[in-house]
Amino acid sequence: MAYDFDLYVIGAGSGGVRAARFAAGFGAKVAVAESRYLGGTCVNVGCVPKKLLVYGAHYAEDFEQASGFGWSLGEASFDWATLIANKDREINRLNGIYRNLLVNSGVTLHEGHARLTGPNEVEINGQRFTAKNILIATGGWPQIPEIPGHEHAIGSNEAFFLKELPKRVLVVGGGYIAVEFAGIFHGLGAQTSLLYRGDLFLRGFDGAVRKHLQEELTKRGLDLQFNADIARIDKQADGSLKASLKDGRVLEADCVFYATGRRPMLDNLGLEHTGVKLDKRGFVEVDELYQTAEPSILAIGDVIGRVQLTPVALAEGMAVARRLFKPEQYRPVDYAMIPTAVFSLPNIGTVGLSEEQARADGHNVQIFESRFRPMKLTLTECQERTLMKLVVDADTDKVLGCHMVGPDAGEIVQGLAIALKAGATKQHFDETIGVHPTAAEEFVTMRTPVAD
Ligand code: FAD
Ligand code: NDP
Repeated sequence: MAYDFDLYVIGAGSGGVRAARFAAGFGAKVAVAESRYLGGTCVNVGCVPKKLLVYGAHYAEDFEQASGFGWSLGEASFDWATLIANKDREINRLNGIYRNLLVNSGVTLHEGHARLTGPNEVEINGQRFTAKNILIATGGWPQIPEIPGHEHAIGSNEAFFLKELPKRVLVVGGGYIAVEFAGIFHGLGAQTSLLYRGDLFLRGFDGAVRKHLQEELTKRGLDLQFNADIARIDKQADGSLKASLKDGRVLEADCVFYATGRRPMLDNLGLEHTGVKLDKRGFVEVDELYQTAEPSILAIGDVIGRVQLTPVALAEGMAVARRLFKPEQYRPVDYAMIPTAVFSLPNIGTVGLSEEQARADGHNVQIFESRFRPMKLTLTECQERTLMKLVVDADTDKVLGCHMVGPDAGEIVQGLAIALKAGATKQHFDETIGVHPTAAEEFVTMRTPVAD
């Protein structure tokens, strides 16, 4: 049968754009449908605008520290509307770049909501198209628990477009987004509390990292409330919000921001017209080749709920394009040693196993740890400390994990990820000459293991 397209991609986000462009580059006839914004979550309401806001929030401490280096500044003032307008301009520019990338690589762009009408058919804007392969790359959406008054709360999508910076913010959650946005609101001057339902936020990260970040954020005056969860939210006559906690306390705020995970975006996707199955958590179920239960339909990125990070969606998109249209270049995605950063202030950078994971996996673990005051701060009043930690297998000398809390941790950990991917041992770290004077050199100068 002749199809309209070799590949029809639903969703022009990180994974979808990558798959579409590469497939077209390999000679396939490709279309991509996008209902909202080119570039998807990462470009529009994720990584990119978030990082711009983090940069914005960082200036508060830069100004504070400048006096130690002889600078005297007038009283600093901050204008949220300027930051948001500049951020929007940059995102518009990126949307244009994504459009050009797609068009110039020969991909047909359909702007509208796409719906599956069969295993090889998609409907968009009242038209139907057939495709030999269909790729679901529809991403995710913020999930807010349906407590009474949840309609008064916002999620990350809305946070990027607030008309003004709220004076008092309650951030709910203890994952990436909660920690990053608590830092943004606090840094920009809002009175901010982070409420997390468990004992300590960032579950799954190394224990020392979680504790160190807790101490650093507390030092900065961010109000961290653990074992705290909201039972209901009420809007008061003056427009402010009253959050009643499960433990009976009542907190007042101008904004309640939920960052409690993301669900797969499957709204009105027409999966019922196909054999695609969902897993127990509701994400699209795929095998190791991203094949769904419907042989002609594949899925990648956040919608499969494996690792919800842009570089992972990109790698999955590339793997699908290669497998379908350039099989001789196909390489499976390696999910081991994925580096990641939390752009809190200070940043977390991490790659490989946490100490807890390494022990649980049965490794005979040796830990190297360093805590120090960054050189840049020695001329300032700031008492922030950096943490660096190596988790090593004592039997094989292999470095299993590298963890850092401190300025530029995300930048530093990228290079370490290459070393770990290449199987670096602690001896390789020891024999590596440092770059002086940097914080990063500490990773190659830790000699004495921490007592067990
Ligand atoms: P998406 O990028 O979400 O793209 C899906 C696209 O599909 C969207 O454009 C959507 O409009 C479109 N779509 C959905 N349904 C349809 C339909 N039926 N028809 C047509 N189009 C449709 N990751 C990092 O690595 N680093 C970070 O710093 C980082 N920060 C983040 C900050 C926030 C606040 C959030 C929310 C996420 C962040 N992420 C970060 C995660 C990252 O954004 C996602 O992992 C990534 O965008 C997933 O890519 P994707 O292609 O699977 O989906
Ligand atoms: P996460 O899954 O990281 O964290 C969700 C948090 O919400 C957890 O602390 C969880 O608690 C808590 N939670 C879940 N349900 C409830 C509930 N009903 N009530 C109270 N608390 C709840 O999700 P995020 O929304 O922060 O981010 C989504 C994903 O996006 C991340 O996992 C990450 O993959 C990606 N991302 C990456 C970034 C980066 O690379 N820098 C930045 C932002 C997002 P518990 O731990 O107890 O389950």
